[in-house]
Amino acid sequence: MSAPPPALDLTAIRADFPVLCQRVHDRPLVYLDNAATSQTPSAVIDTLRTYYETYNANIHRGLHVLSERATAEYEAARRRVAGFVNAAHAHEVIFTRGTTEAVNLVARSWGDAHVNAGDDILLTELEHHSNLVPWQMLAKRRGATLRYVPISPEGRIDLEAYARMFGPRTRLVAVTHMSNVLGVITPAARIVQIARANGVPVLLDAAQSVPHLAVDVQALDADFVAFSGHKVLGPTGIGALYAKEAWLEAMDPLFGGGSMIRTVELHESSWAGLPEKFEGGTPNIAGAIGLGAAVDYVQNVGIDAVTAHEDALTERALAMLSDLDGVRVLGPQDTTDRGGVISFTVDGVHPHDVGTLLDADGIAVRAGHHCAQPLMRKLGVAATVRASLYLYNSPHEVDALAEGVARAKAFFDEH
Ligand code: PLP
Repeated sequence: MSAPPPALDLTAIRADFPVLCQRVHDRPLVYLDNAATSQTPSAVIDTLRTYYETYNANIHRGLHVLSERATAEYEAARRRVAGFVNAAHAHEVIFTRGTTEAVNLVARSWGDAHVNAGDDILLTELEHHSNLVPWQMLAKRRGATLRYVPISPEGRIDLEAYARMFGPRTRLVAVTHMSNVLGVITPAARIVQIARANGVPVLLDAAQSVPHLAVDVQALDADFVAFSGHKVLGPTGIGALYAKEAWLEAMDPLFGGGSMIRTVELHESSWAGLPEKFEGGTPNIAGAIGLGAAVDYVQNVGIDAVTAHEDALTERALAMLSDLDGVRVLGPQDTTDRGGVISFTVDGVHPHDVGTLLDADGIAVRAGHHCAQPLMRKLGVAATVRASLYLYNSPHEVDALAEGVARAKAFFDEH
């Protein structure tokens, strides 16, 4: 067995995040909405500042110093991101606006070429709308059918049912790697193995996994992996699609325009090589470079140490919340194959009211359907409160959450 990862130096880490040292409603900010957007360390803010202050320029175009530097840093960021998820080649990473754009890119560029009337696409009942609506749109365009792998009451994928759902017309599996509602970590490697045995490619929605656990795209053997920069300490409006080189070579681009062509004639064009073919127009240069700095930051801390830290906090939160009268935590009740996304309901109190009262205590959580309406229906709830953890959260903040929820419950019990 390998040695456990070293404990995080929480004081040093928190000092890297200027946003955390503020008061909200005259209380210290407790930021527990990381599944929506994570906070930005000074290293990333400084990287963005340096870009705009010293080498802001378009890439791949100018013959001048600024443009050359911007191009070099943009491509270095691609290598950093590729390294972070262990892609075999940097050009297998396509910068996108985020997970949503990455999934839509695959649904359009790959889907329109491979999915026909009468074909099936396998999804699961866990999915975020971003890994659901693009497939609905594809299915409508092509006359295909979406089929949903069932989940258990705590949100585990039924692998036996999944294995039985493959047929001769199954074209793709698209599945989340970690649920943004229940924190469930899906058995991605096994899911890919079963799909592979059936000759079917797999897209992983890794929006919630890449920031919190080691994701090795080669070990997972997934065909497509989508994630967002702003959930992994990076800027908003940047993310990535990892795809196996062979797929990218064979796929048509989604966006036509500048930078993605080899030659343009009046009536037709030929495409540039990878990755430019998929990055038509001026990309989010600063965002990509910022994302490179963000994954460097996580790597310097150590992703296994981040996971271990979050596991300990999750265990504490699950124990404290479950101890409260009238509080029901959804999803797995321990940290086995589970991340730090904790959804719960409070008897007699609407989740939005819990969220509002927590906000008054300086505690930022999310309340609502979390862009997963079919999952909420399956769970039999209209909305939940969701607290989601990251590397800078402390045990003290988990305690503050539990105390805040208890206060909210008591307040509504009295009124
Ligand atoms: N998939 C999952 C599991 C998510 O949690 C999210 C964001 O909350 C997305 C997809 C969409 O990500 P983005 O809005 O960054 O495109």
